[in-house]
Amino acid sequence: MIIHISQNACENQIDEITQFVESMGLNAHRSNGSNRIILGLTGDVSKVDVNTLKKYHIVEGVYRITAPYKKANRQFHEKDSIIDIGGVKIGGPHFLMCAGPCSVENETDTIELAKKLKASGANALRGGAFKPRTSPYSFQGLGVEGLKILNEAKKETGLPIVSELMGTEHLDTFVDMVDVIQIGARNMQNFDLLKAIGQTDKPILLKRGMSAKIEEWLMSAEYILAGGNKNVIFCERGIRTFEDATRNTLDIQAVPVVQKESHLPIVVDPSHAAGVRYVIPSMAKAAVMAGANGLQIEVHQNPEKAWSDGQQSLTPEEFSDLMSTIQLLLQMEGKTL
Ligand code: PEP
Ligand code: MN
Repeated sequence: MIIHISQNACENQIDEITQFVESMGLNAHRSNGSNRIILGLTGDVSKVDVNTLKKYHIVEGVYRITAPYKKANRQFHEKDSIIDIGGVKIGGPHFLMCAGPCSVENETDTIELAKKLKASGANALRGGAFKPRTSPYSFQGLGVEGLKILNEAKKETGLPIVSELMGTEHLDTFVDMVDVIQIGARNMQNFDLLKAIGQTDKPILLKRGMSAKIEEWLMSAEYILAGGNKNVIFCERGIRTFEDATRNTLDIQAVPVVQKESHLPIVVDPSHAAGVRYVIPSMAKAAVMAGANGLQIEVHQNPEKAWSDGQQSLTPEEFSDLMSTIQLLLQMEGKTL
């Protein structure tokens, strides 16, 4: 449920309504919209008497949110949420350009690559240390050693780091060692993991499940927000369809749909959507023009030799070329890195 309050209301009048709803055992979350103040209510709102609330003369309207996602809902928070990831902003006009290898392999290459990515315009470094591989015989990641290497690259470049957490046993380590916790497609509905990260205030990059509907994805974000963590960033990374010319199908429509439904930023990962290198530049450009709040792209010094996802990794030179165009498109969209 949301209460629209006049922008001219005094603080003590707002406090009075807040205390009234809290006395009913509800939580009130305030946000300032462009033309009004919004009080979003969570808890058992079924007993709330709308007419009592409407008697306060600063109340312009009281509405029930019919969608199952409440805190993630744009009705709850009208303006775009801006999320700070280690000093880099994302959301609204702030664009996230996150790039790096699928898996961290060694320190020298990671640092050298991070420097090139930064020079090309990236403002965050990704790298997998705990890898969700289809086969138990495939490379599983360097583990904590990989996170240490990412931190060395951060020291050299200042780039905030993004890495995937697969289970709650490493949560404290991730809170200490990364700027953004990535929740991979395969864990989008790992509800215990979502509840645990909801107890932190770490920015979360929540990838869309391989066959998840947008509503299910929004509900996964709701789990994190319900715990108190407001820093959720969606990541569209392609969904399974009947089409097998590419690894997955990039659902570019998810960008405007999620932005209409939610105030949280959405980035696009064309690498895991395409699964093949040649498709990535077109889809990255399409994502910017669709209004995405960022991109996540896999780049490897020598893709032929990569320990995972080499076939979908750009070379640093390909990434640099793509970035020249992306910078122009961002200007057209009124966004900045
Ligand atoms: C990854 O980012 O390397 C990854 C495994 O992504 P996804 O969860 O989207 O498959
Ligand atoms: Mn990958």
